[in-house]
Amino acid sequence: MAAITRRSFLFALGGFLLAAPAASAIQIGGIEYMSLAQLASLCGMRYKTLVKNKTQEVYSKHTRMTFNLHSRSMNLNGMTVYLGHAVALYKGVLQISKRDYLKTIIPIVFPQNLGKPPKLFSIFIDAGHGGKDFGAQNKALKISEKNVALDIAARLGRELEKNGYKVSYTRTKDNFVELADRPKKANSAKADLFLSIHCNAAGDKSVRGIETYSLTPRWMPSTASAKMSKSDSVEHPGNSRDGWNKLLAYYIQRDMAKATRSPDRGIKKARFAVLKTPNMPSVLIETGFISNNTEGKLLATPAYRQKIASAICAGVMTYHNSLRRLAKK
Ligand SMILES: [Zn+2]
Repeated sequence: MAAITRRSFLFALGGFLLAAPAASAIQIGGIEYMSLAQLASLCGMRYKTLVKNKTQEVYSKHTRMTFNLHSRSMNLNGMTVYLGHAVALYKGVLQISKRDYLKTIIPIVFPQNLGKPPKLFSIFIDAGHGGKDFGAQNKALKISEKNVALDIAARLGRELEKNGYKVSYTRTKDNFVELADRPKKANSAKADLFLSIHCNAAGDKSVRGIETYSLTPRWMPSTASAKMSKSDSVEHPGNSRDGWNKLLAYYIQRDMAKATRSPDRGIKKARFAVLKTPNMPSVLIETGFISNNTEGKLLATPAYRQKIASAICAGVMTYHNSLRRLAKK
């Protein structure tokens, strides 16, 4: 966390937002951008060029953000974080969209600007798929996503309970649950956090790694789509917690990457049905590719599923510690 007081930061932010339309913001393809020099000065950080007209960094003693021209991801303290809009170049300085500054960078680097931190006691775990819906399958290894997700969910629930949280579930058996009913159950349980557990699959069997998704903020394309579309203009109930969703996704992905050493495929954005309507901070976790031989074999073992469950629990607790620190400010 950068050494910057809440007051001076809010002042800088307010000043920027007022001044931006007049002088400092530029439009690229109809999207408002700001330069990394501005970002650095707003954040009380410095910026430098690593590769001319290609790679630049904004950094302080505690934070390092690396950006690459035309890329839709950045590196934040070693983690891959997906941006809504690609990095641009203007007069030799890289530019990021103002939307990414507010919706991607602020929540992770300056969560003190997100307002009053939410309470965290009751956690809802959503094991993906179930019953007639097998999710992804690896026939050679005889594993399906619905079973792997259910087992990780049960292990995660036990870990969270051990640490004093109240836990409820979409399903504790192999039964089918409609997508729309999952957040509904979480809302009626009055949960403070929603964690959806899944496994990935890809046609390319060499692909492996972990991903954590939060609901795409309004006016941004999801990670899987390169361009803006009509659906980007829709505001979902879950968007009222964009900042907390992002901070939660960051800590869970970080702790999972650390514990599993599985490749970090990034903190991503999607408008998954289960993320649109929960009344609490929510993420969807892709715990690994069951289509990959190595990762599939790992996911087939109880020891690895336990490792993932413990790592997700650690991520939740890191997030909770951050909420506690913010509450004291
Ligand atoms: Zn799934």
